[in-house]
Amino acid sequence: MDGPLTGRPPGATERTRLRRIPEKAVLDRDRLHAVLDAGLVAHVGVVASDAQPYVVPVAYARDGERVVFHGSTASRLFRELAAGASTCLTVTLLDGLVLARSVFESSMHYRSVMVLGRCEVLDGLAKETALERVTEHLLPGRWAEARHPSPKELAATMVLALPLDETSVKVSDGPPHDPEDDVRLPVWAGTVPIREAFGEPVDAPDLADGLPVPGYVHRWRR
Ligand SMILES: Cc1cc2nc3c(=O)[nH]c(=O)nc-3n(C[C@H](O)[C@H](O)[C@H](O)COP(=O)(O)OP(=O)(O)OC[C@H]3O[C@@H](n4cnc5c(N)ncnc54)[C@H](O)[C@@H]3O)c2cc1C
Repeated sequence: MDGPLTGRPPGATERTRLRRIPEKAVLDRDRLHAVLDAGLVAHVGVVASDAQPYVVPVAYARDGERVVFHGSTASRLFRELAAGASTCLTVTLLDGLVLARSVFESSMHYRSVMVLGRCEVLDGLAKETALERVTEHLLPGRWAEARHPSPKELAATMVLALPLDETSVKVSDGPPHDPEDDVRLPVWAGTVPIREAFGEPVDAPDLADGLPVPGYVHRWRR
């Protein structure tokens, strides 16, 4: 399944142009794709009919030039988005703490993406393929082993696609920037990297005797 090909670079529209610290803007689509491919959780925002904004974390995958994610057909977020509500989806990768001499200048290393737009509801084969994408994005190899959704499960699931048309990418890296007066202070300054890691797999308590952890689970390292 391929989404519509939209070649607009990140930050190309007035509302996605970074104004605050614009030197952290990344303007190429390869980096946009790379951040989305490295993340596991997206936060999806919607202003509900009561005018209250809600931001909901979801699993997702990039599918070509769009992001796909799924949820219950009974979910408020999904119903609003299916009805055409505009949304803002973000993905944030936290890469480290930046410890400046002052609390004011201290910050974080990160890669983050923002996508603005409206979602399309996927059905039929496109829906199943998107579910495969999400499953494989979380744990490559899983789709081949796990039981696939039944017609009843598919009916209870909504799958949405958000085009990567209006996007922005912000990346923060490098050392702390302290003003000259602060550099003389006897305060340690530097960066502390943060890495996401998978731990040892733990068998389900009701696992059938003798069923080993599959190779694709062992192999999976981020
Ligand atoms: C892990 C993390 C921690 C952060 N901590 C703080 C904090 O404590 N305080 C703080 O003020 N800011 C923090 N930021 C930065 C914050 O996300 C905003 O970039 C910043 O607050 C400026 O917001 P703004 O709306 O004024 O940006 P503007 O530059 O005015 O936003 C204009 C457009 O730029 C794009 N944009 C802005 N921010 C981002 C982003 N992060 N990722 C992708 N596109 C973006 C959007 O398309 C937005 O519409 C953090 C970011 C991350 C990822």
